[in-house]
Amino acid sequence: MSNKSAVDRGNKVLVGNYGRYPIGFVKGSGCTLTDEEGREYKDFLAGIAVCALGHCHPAVTEAIAEQAGRLIHTSNLYYTEPATKLAELLVENSFGDKVFFCNSGAEANEAALKLARIHAPEGKYSVISLSGSFHGRTMATLAATGQPKFHEDFKPMPTGYNYVDFGDIEKIEAAIDDTTCAIICEPLQGEGGVRPLDKGYVQAIRKLCDEKGLLLIFDEIQTGIARTGTLFAYEQFGVEPDIISLAKGLGSGMPIGAIITRDNVAASLVPGTHGSTFGGNPVSCAAALATLDVILNNNFIPQMNDVADYFTAELEKVATEYPKLLSKGRGMGLLRGIVATEEGATVGADIVNKMLEKGYLINFAGGVALRFAPPLIVTKAECDELIIALREVLASY
Ligand SMILES: *Cc1c(COP(=O)(O)O)cnc(C)c1O
Repeated sequence: MSNKSAVDRGNKVLVGNYGRYPIGFVKGSGCTLTDEEGREYKDFLAGIAVCALGHCHPAVTEAIAEQAGRLIHTSNLYYTEPATKLAELLVENSFGDKVFFCNSGAEANEAALKLARIHAPEGKYSVISLSGSFHGRTMATLAATGQPKFHEDFKPMPTGYNYVDFGDIEKIEAAIDDTTCAIICEPLQGEGGVRPLDKGYVQAIRKLCDEKGLLLIFDEIQTGIARTGTLFAYEQFGVEPDIISLAKGLGSGMPIGAIITRDNVAASLVPGTHGSTFGGNPVSCAAALATLDVILNNNFIPQMNDVADYFTAELEKVATEYPKLLSKGRGMGLLRGIVATEEGATVGADIVNKMLEKGYLINFAGGVALRFAPPLIVTKAECDELIIALREVLASY
């Protein structure tokens, strides 16, 4: 099939809620994707920071096949080994004691927001989030998302969500009232333009939560699972949250979401308060176990950070070479952005298209920054190739 017929057939029957590029992909291996016409692309987006081990990593595909042949689903009326084992591993490697599994990022945040409400004393229900944040597309997670443009067509929004300007601790303090039960933030805003929070700011938020008896929720859906250079991004801020939400990288492409929390907080979710039919699906959990097995062993994270440092320095050079279009690089680990200038932002989408024509997948996050989130197995040689293509594209303006 051609890309054109993939597009034509798809557009006839798929709801048009995505702005898709005119390409149909048929297979992937490592950082490489192949389209309907046999053309290969280097994937520097990894399915939006999802395919942590790249496409079809043998450890992941074998774990999926093995588990699919053994047991696919039982519901949460019973126990299964992959979910328990995965929860054990997440607890062992985090601040938390307990894990709840679901199927996506929004569902993980939805669980975190419900948990914050049920755990809070009577009369406390509202949650503070930051401007520029992204927490999901369900009604509650959309309401928690601090970007009014996403709310516009869906009013009235669920109540109990307040937004404060990014970066100013006094604004958060001023927004806390008698109804506040939690603060939710991403340690690094992904969709909002690859914008990391300042370490001192995060520590001040933690202190404020302690003083006021609020839960601190870290949305690590994009930053978790080694993406930022540590298994969880919170490790680099010198604080521990009360709840983290995970999804994207956890299953290397299999749908899975999770929250990790402490015993005393988890205790509020008693039988009947929350659930998900598919949550903790054995096949998705097997994929996540295989992913973590690779990431947590054989010096994987230090090696990844070596590549990330190299890639960061190369992107930084590119940013300084094209000051008309680009201002500066930012990000953590292998979640990198180059912030566009005002002029650069007008051609951000065009840069992404031209990179695609050259065979490289990147995107333009939040109308602010070119975003690079390659599989965590990307090599320096692959980074070099991307940098060459990026220079050629930028030189064309
Ligand atoms: C992608 C993302 C979500 C939503 O995840 P879905 O799986 O699309 O529901 C929420 N928060 C952050 C930070 C994300 O990057």
